[in-house]
Amino acid sequence: MGEILCLNAGSSSLKFALFASEGSGEPQSLASGKIENIGIEPHLVAHDASGKTIAEQRWTKADKATHETLLADLLERIQKQVGKDLIGVGHRVVHGGMDFAAPVRIDDDVLARLDALCPLAPLHQPHNLSAIRAVRAVQPSLPQIACFDTGFHHEQPAVATRLALPRALDAEGVRRYGFHGISYEYIARQLGEIDPLVSGGRVIAAHLGNGASLCAMKDGRSIDTTMGFTALDGLVMGTRCGALDPGAVLYLFQEKGMSTNAVEHLLYNESGLLGVSGISSDMRALIESDDPHAKESVDLFVYHIARQTGALASSLGGLDAFVFTAGIGENAPEVRSLVAQRLSWLGVEIDEDANRRRAPVISTSSSRITVRVIPTDEERMIAIHTAELLAHAGTAS
Ligand code: AMP
Repeated sequence: MGEILCLNAGSSSLKFALFASEGSGEPQSLASGKIENIGIEPHLVAHDASGKTIAEQRWTKADKATHETLLADLLERIQKQVGKDLIGVGHRVVHGGMDFAAPVRIDDDVLARLDALCPLAPLHQPHNLSAIRAVRAVQPSLPQIACFDTGFHHEQPAVATRLALPRALDAEGVRRYGFHGISYEYIARQLGEIDPLVSGGRVIAAHLGNGASLCAMKDGRSIDTTMGFTALDGLVMGTRCGALDPGAVLYLFQEKGMSTNAVEHLLYNESGLLGVSGISSDMRALIESDDPHAKESVDLFVYHIARQTGALASSLGGLDAFVFTAGIGENAPEVRSLVAQRLSWLGVEIDEDANRRRAPVISTSSSRITVRVIPTDEERMIAIHTAELLAHAGTAS
C-alpha cells in the first residue's frame, strides 16, 4: 500500500510516527519523532526504527514558526524522505463525543462535529483539530483519519457512564466518556497476544503519564474508567486535579470570585503534582527532590491510584491482573513499588528486582494478581486503524 503518518498534536508539542503499511498485517515502523517547545523555540528530533537520530532542527523566535508552518515543513521532509505521496494521515483526537466510537475518515461534516466538542477537552481537542486543518491546507486530497481517545470506552454499561444529574443533561451528552482509549486498546491487544489467559479475565490498566487514568477491562473490553466527562476526572495528574468535590469549584466561583477562565486554568494547569508539590509536574524531578512537599505529592498520586483501583476492582467483581504503562508507569519503579504496597491487601506482591529491571512481569510467582509493565504505543494503534480504514475504502471503491 504505502506510508502512513500518525500525528498526536498537543498545545506545545507534536509527536509523529511514520509507518509502512502493506494493507494486511502489522504496519512497519519507519521513523518517529517530536517537535517540542512550539510557540517558543521549537525543536525537532526524529529517529529511525533503530533509534538512530535522522533529523534534528531548532527554530529561533525570529523564525516565527507556528504549528501550521512546522507541520507543513514536516510533511515536506517526510514526502521527500519517502520519495512519494503518503497514503494517509492518522490523528489522535481526544474526544469523539456520543457519535464517534470507531475511527473515521475526516470530511467537513466530521470536522464540524468534532469542533463542537472542543469545550469538553479544551486542553487537547483544539490542537488535535488544528493539525488536521494544517494538513488539509497543504494537501487537501490526502485522506485523514481520526482515532478517538473516548472510542474504546464507548460500549461501557450505562451505569458506568451516567452522572447523577437530571436526565435531560445525560440526553444532551453530559455523561462519563473516559479517555486514553487508544493507549488502552493497544494494551488490550498486546495483552491478548502475550497473555491470552489473563487478557480474558479482569484487568486494570494504569496509564500513568502527564495525564493519568485507570481502565477496568473484562475480556479485553473497557467496562469502567477513572476519567469522566472531561480528562480532569479521576487520578491526580501532572497539572490536573483529578476527582474533585464539585462544591470546591462552587467555592472558587462564589467565595474567591474567580472567573471561569481562571478556574479552568487552575484545574487543568496549576493543580495535580505541580499544585501539591509547588515544585514540578514532572515525576522524575519529584522523585529526585528532598523537599517534603514533593514526597507529599507523590504519596497523593499513589494513594489515589490505589483508592481508584479498589473502586474499579469492585466494578470488575475482582482482579486478575494489573498493567502499568506510559511515562511514569513504564519508567518509575519507585512509583510501581509504592502502588504495589498499597495494593497488597488485594494479593499484589511484586518482585523488587524484576521491578527495577522493568521485566515484563514484575509480580512474584505467589502473587494472586499478575502485575505487568507493557509499553504503550498510541501511534502504532493509530497506524493500525488508519491502514484498516484505508484498505477498507480501497476495497469498497
Ligand atoms: P507521558 O505523558 O506518558 O510522556 O509521561 C510523562 C511523565 O513520565 C512525566 O511525569 C515524567 O516525569 C515521567 N517519566 C518519564 N521518565 C521517567 C523516569 N525515568 N522516572 C520517573 N518518571 C518518568
